[in-house]
Amino acid sequence: MPAPPDPARFAFANAGRLLSDTFDALLPPNRMSVADHAGRNRWVKSPVGAHLERWSHDTAPYLTEPMHWLSDDQYDTVGIVGPGACGKTMIAENWLLYTAESDPADLLWYLNTDAALDAYVKGRIEPMLDQHDPLLGHLRRGLGRDSVAFKRFRGGRAEFLTFTPSSLVNKHVARIVADEIDNYDESLGDPLALLNPRRQAAGADSKLLVISHPDRGAPIDAPRTKQRGIMAVYADSTRCTWWWRCPHCGTYSSPHPGTSRRMVLDWPKDAPLDEVQAKARLVCPTGCLIEDGERYAMNLTGRWVGEGETIDEDGRVTGERRRVKTAGAWILGVMSPFTKDGIGGLARAQAQAERAADLGDHEGLRQVMVKTFGEDAPAPWSVSTCWSAWRCRCSRRSTRGPAASRAATNSRTGPSLCCSGAAATSARSSSATSISAPAACRPIRCPGARSSPSMPSASAVWNRRWSAAARRQSARRGRGKLSACSSSGARRTGS
Ligand SMILES: [Zn+2]
Repeated sequence: MPAPPDPARFAFANAGRLLSDTFDALLPPNRMSVADHAGRNRWVKSPVGAHLERWSHDTAPYLTEPMHWLSDDQYDTVGIVGPGACGKTMIAENWLLYTAESDPADLLWYLNTDAALDAYVKGRIEPMLDQHDPLLGHLRRGLGRDSVAFKRFRGGRAEFLTFTPSSLVNKHVARIVADEIDNYDESLGDPLALLNPRRQAAGADSKLLVISHPDRGAPIDAPRTKQRGIMAVYADSTRCTWWWRCPHCGTYSSPHPGTSRRMVLDWPKDAPLDEVQAKARLVCPTGCLIEDGERYAMNLTGRWVGEGETIDEDGRVTGERRRVKTAGAWILGVMSPFTKDGIGGLARAQAQAERAADLGDHEGLRQVMVKTFGEDAPAPWSVSTCWSAWRCRCSRRSTRGPAASRAATNSRTGPSLCCSGAAATSARSSSATSISAPAACRPIRCPGARSSPSMPSASAVWNRRWSAAARRQSARRGRGKLSACSSSGARRTGS
């Protein structure tokens, strides 16, 4: 009788594991949204210490609805504009986990450079996959060794690529992440025009997630033809803005430029930087001063409001959101709980950059506005604008750039052109800061202003560049008084 084989010399399959995997394959996909999947399964590294914490939608509530959009058949593209450290890339990470575990598909993830790709995959993606081994381990084992750029799962793969002509060839998948598209090589052309054919075969099931700082964006009210990069995606989208409730007066307002009730960041303009940081406050449209620590509770009351919808002061939303195939959200630095030193740090960074811009360093200010605030870059020639004429003294400080400092200084010296004759009152804050706290003060239409005073606009700046077309259009509409307004603003700002 032959001797039985030595078990140590042979590798045997685990019959129990084979049976379990077979039954797993028969189960239907676990239908839930990306946001629900993250709430149930995502772990994130704690901001204090090295331990892991469960994902909480309460930390950055503005990330939740965009994750739902990724599971919504109504949209085939999701565009997220935002500064650094606002959590926008975690939307894509949660989508990757969802794709691997719950709804298998092939996914391409593009970044701007090889170095960025290598650092991101090794520094974020691989640790994230390791941390979720109890969730994903059985879907990854037995498929061979993964490379940095290629991760396999049972039922799909995730490929990390630099955005180059060669990386676009022969790639056909259902899901694509395009991260930092405003830093892609401009000579290649429009990233969306190059990426959309990659998902044609997937048809209605395809989804493209586009994320970036607005490095190439124009002001939000600039003509669509002037928008590039992520702001062009946003312009074609549902154009959602974030609205939250003031903890003092209960009024809903938005930190976004171009909204009808805007909450602005303010600080004592000529103070030392340490004082700027310590005394920075958000100012709601009715004049309440809001401290950094109050933003957490405000974010919990927040909601995205798209184009076509209207939100009243009590937070009731009416109207129907624009029906387009692209959902778009614009995250700002003042919304982010991940910003170092909170709104004080933001104010300090902007004040410092504005002072450098006054001395000629406009690039520093552009970098701060784009990467820290998540807003379009101010134009170097913005010193002589009519921004100060757009709104009355309480909200005129919502403008930015060197002109804003001067406009704010002027606002403390007396009523301006747009406030004169208005039944508005304003009072100084009782605090030691130079922030004025207006009471019952509402924007009044500037006689020279081109559009509604509820839309503080940087278009006067941009119309200098595009002035010919803009003036012709304004003249046709019978409200072409831009030039008069600009000249008065230029005088007032002393430039
Ligand atoms: Zn308020």
